[in-house]
Amino acid sequence: MTKQKFILGNWKMNNQLAEIEEFTAHLTNLSQVQHPDLYLGIAPMSPYLSLVRQKFPPFLHVGAQNISTQKKGAFTGEIPASTVSELKGEFVLVGHSERRSYFHETSSELAEKIRRAFEERLLTVFCVGETLKEREEKSHFDCVKKQMNEVIELLGDDAQKILSASFIMAYEPVWAIGTGKVASAKDAEEMHAFISSLLKEKWGNEFFLPILYGGSVTAQNINELLAMPNISGALVGGASLKSDSFSLLAQAAFKFF
Ligand code: PEP
Repeated sequence: MTKQKFILGNWKMNNQLAEIEEFTAHLTNLSQVQHPDLYLGIAPMSPYLSLVRQKFPPFLHVGAQNISTQKKGAFTGEIPASTVSELKGEFVLVGHSERRSYFHETSSELAEKIRRAFEERLLTVFCVGETLKEREEKSHFDCVKKQMNEVIELLGDDAQKILSASFIMAYEPVWAIGTGKVASAKDAEEMHAFISSLLKEKWGNEFFLPILYGGSVTAQNINELLAMPNISGALVGGASLKSDSFSLLAQAAFKFF
C-alpha cells in the first residue's frame, strides 16, 4: 500500500483574479509542508489554469475540474484533455457529483473522459458517491459499486491498464458536499474499504488505488479522516478556497510523514 497522501482543492466556479492573487500571496507557509509523497493540488476554473500554474510554486499541482469526451473539433464550449496538458495541468476530476447531477453526465461519457485523460497522461480523480436518499435506503454500497462497475465495463479490456496508470478515486457522498455534514470517519472508512475490496476482487490483492474522501472536509475533521487505513487524502471544496484553510489541511496531511 502506498503511503502517498493527497490534498486536492476543487475551486468550482469560485476564485477569480482578485482571490487568486490573495491565495498566492499567502502561500508561504505551504513550503514548509513539502514531502515527495504529499500531493497538493488545486483545480481552478479552466480559463485560469495557465495563470494559476505560473503563480503557484512548482510543488503545488494544478488540474482541471472537467474535460471533454472529445479530442478536438466542433464542440462549442468544451475543453479537451490536451489543452489541460498544454497549460501544465496535471490532473482532472471526472464524475464529480455536480457534473453528474446538473449536467447529466453518464457513465459512458465518464469512461470517454477517463480515456482522454489517460491518453494525455493526466492523473484522473474519479469521483463516486451516493445521495442522501440512497444512504437512507441503505443502497449506498450498491450505488457506488454500480458507478464503478459501469465505467470499468465500458473501459473494457483497457480498464486494468488505465486504472493502474495514473488514476485515483474520490468517495464523495453527495449529501456531504458543501453541506457542512461530514461523513463520520467510520462511515467513510467503511466505504473506502468496500471500494478497495471491489478493486482487489477484480484485479487481485496487490491492486491498490488511493481513495480520497470528499464532503465538507475542514481542518477540524481532517485528522480523524486521514487516520483511517483506507483514506489516502481529501478532495476539498469550500476549505480549499483560502490559502490559510488549505494550508491547514496540507499541514494535517504532512504530519503523517
Ligand atoms: C467537492 O466539491 O468535491 C467538495 C467536497 O466540496 P466541500 O468540501 O465544499 O463539501
